[in-house]
Amino acid sequence: MAGATDLGPRLEGLVQLVAAELVAEVCSVYVMRPGEILELAATLGLRHEAVHRTRLRVGEGIVGTAAAEARPLNLPDAQNHPAFAYRPETGEEPYASMLAVPVLRGAEVLGVIAVQNRAPRRYAEDEVEAIETVAMLLAEMLHGVRSAAEEVALGVPRSLARHFEGVGLTPGIVMGPALRHGRRAAPRRVLSDDPAAELARLKAASEAMQRAVDALLEGPARAAGREPREVLEAYRLIAADQGWLGKIAAAVRDGLSAEAAVERVLADLRARMRQVADPYLRERLADIEDLAGRLIDHLGGPAEQPAIGAGFILLARRLGPAELLGYHARGLAGLVLEEGSPTAHATIIARALEVPLLAGCRGATDAAVPGEQAVLDADEGRLVLRPDAEIVAGYTAALAARASRRAAAAGLRAAEPRTRDGVRLTVMINAGLLMDLPHLAETGADGIGLFRTEIAWLARGGLPDPETEEAFYRDVLRAAGDKPVLFRTIDLGGDKLLPGFSHAEENPAMGWRSLRIGLDRPALLRRQLRAMLGAAAGRTLLVMFPMVTTVEELRAAKALLEAERRAAERRGAAPAAVRAGAMLEVPALVWQLPALLEEADFLSIGSNDLTQFLFAADRGNPRLAGRYDFLSAPVLDLLEEVGAAAAAAGVPVGLCGEAAARPLEALAVFGVGIDQVSVPAAAVPAVKAMVQSLDLAAFRTFLAGLRRAARGGASLRADIAAYARDHGIVTE
Ligand code: PEP
Ligand code: MG
Repeated sequence: MAGATDLGPRLEGLVQLVAAELVAEVCSVYVMRPGEILELAATLGLRHEAVHRTRLRVGEGIVGTAAAEARPLNLPDAQNHPAFAYRPETGEEPYASMLAVPVLRGAEVLGVIAVQNRAPRRYAEDEVEAIETVAMLLAEMLHGVRSAAEEVALGVPRSLARHFEGVGLTPGIVMGPALRHGRRAAPRRVLSDDPAAELARLKAASEAMQRAVDALLEGPARAAGREPREVLEAYRLIAADQGWLGKIAAAVRDGLSAEAAVERVLADLRARMRQVADPYLRERLADIEDLAGRLIDHLGGPAEQPAIGAGFILLARRLGPAELLGYHARGLAGLVLEEGSPTAHATIIARALEVPLLAGCRGATDAAVPGEQAVLDADEGRLVLRPDAEIVAGYTAALAARASRRAAAAGLRAAEPRTRDGVRLTVMINAGLLMDLPHLAETGADGIGLFRTEIAWLARGGLPDPETEEAFYRDVLRAAGDKPVLFRTIDLGGDKLLPGFSHAEENPAMGWRSLRIGLDRPALLRRQLRAMLGAAAGRTLLVMFPMVTTVEELRAAKALLEAERRAAERRGAAPAAVRAGAMLEVPALVWQLPALLEEADFLSIGSNDLTQFLFAADRGNPRLAGRYDFLSAPVLDLLEEVGAAAAAAGVPVGLCGEAAARPLEALAVFGVGIDQVSVPAAAVPAVKAMVQSLDLAAFRTFLAGLRRAARGGASLRADIAAYARDHGIVTE
């Protein structure tokens, strides 16, 4: 690279200056080369022959680790650090301590600057900050040179399609132009001449940002319901928090421009986030990152975003809840996150908004070109940037077919799920947030068959106060009107973590979770039951307990419920009736059916966990998805046995979770004698359409014969699908 040669003397000057200022015996600059290679580009103190010879892969050695983790490494004894990679040509043996700081521009790593000393020492905080400031200046130098070289060399790779694999956290397929979140132009100025004026600019911007966040609270979030508002409320507190704002102000006082100071605090934050495993803390840090981006926007840094209409696919490393709502108001069609987990705030809200969400697509944000076409297939876990013509044609056809099916199904809203031979089946929805409730009317579903109460807690990031919780349940019941709501008590643990309710466990899905937490922390469970009872005063309350493993556990839970019911009665605010159900998610309950059916007022089969435990196959592991089929003898035999026993005992039983969301699966569930399902709202029209095209008695006869003939755990899917096709049952 011609530019790199020009850079040589400037880098030499820089390393001398830094070494002198920091009293360092070594100062070196490593520059990122194509293929993620860090090349020693200038040094004072190491052997000169090593320049342009010593190369480290990202992740290799201390320098490569600082680049890979995008955080400074400050090591008194670098040579005994597990990541140390010895390069004899450098002659670095005598130097014990090392400080390696990544050269970051935005989130991109352009190189590493490192200082070393003979004496083992940890570099002081002000020394680290000084090097970070130099690294920011260096980033601008390296970027300028690289852009000039890339203008010649690049262009071709950008036009090629790029494929990414991810995990679909909210289903759906969309095509549309890509938009990158958080890709701000790097600060135009790194240093300021007038810190006092810069501080005033920062103050004005942070006040404007706080006003804008307040306005956001009044805007789309209000319409969206209470939970996102509460997430935003916490967010507003952080927006006014002097901790991180004070750090930015301190960096401005040290001479950085306001934008550069925010970027530096952001870089520290990202480094901290990499080390924090606690999902709650990570969410808080993500909120700060989110707010820091807004602050830069208010400083006048124009966001690098083309004007784009509705229907875009947003790519982001992470996204805060407020931002997601903001993008939703602008017409967000799909979301791709490089990080992201099932319990992140953005995921909870994306799910409630039914925005297809694909997570885990590392590198996608940088690879996307704003405005260019992208295909997001969250059903198959795939993102294609700049798809070629065949891919676009394939997806266009699939989407058109899906849209016409949906349009046909939408006409079914008012229709009852009654079979051709006159059997009235029950189709309910799964819900967890207030914003789910309009789906009840939109889909014409029979009620809420699973209300996941922990979702609101997760959205808030903590326990709600009792009054808020009771008011929330009252809102849910009011919105449901005459239709039943099956409230499930908190199901924390597993992949749903809140601070205070989680600790490291080898197998969290089978660990201290759900009712186990509730029974070990009875005050917590009673507090929730009290809120439900209060909310349902004068009407029927349906409560079910998740992950019941023994009948004794159900009895213990019911005793807590009864104690609270009596207390409510004494206050004169008890429900007219209380029914307590058990979720059947743990296979052990199947062998306790007689006792269970004496104890439970109703049963709800949790299809997600039940199949996970039945097949010993982690429900969140994409490698196992589809390996064991729900449409096979082990599952269908179990469902039939439970259904028959419950019917004999006169106990209502339904199936909830996600299994019956697909019409073929719902067909089999009805076929083995369970006549109630609860599914995600989006699946209701298709399940109703299937029911209306079904002759249930004939299908039951067929399915019984098929199962009698079945051997082992083989999938019966093809046979059931063929029957449906031949008999005009709509399963698409
Ligand atoms: C289930 O396991 O099917 C269920 C409904 O509970 P969860 O919230 O764990 O999906
Ligand atoms: Mg479950």
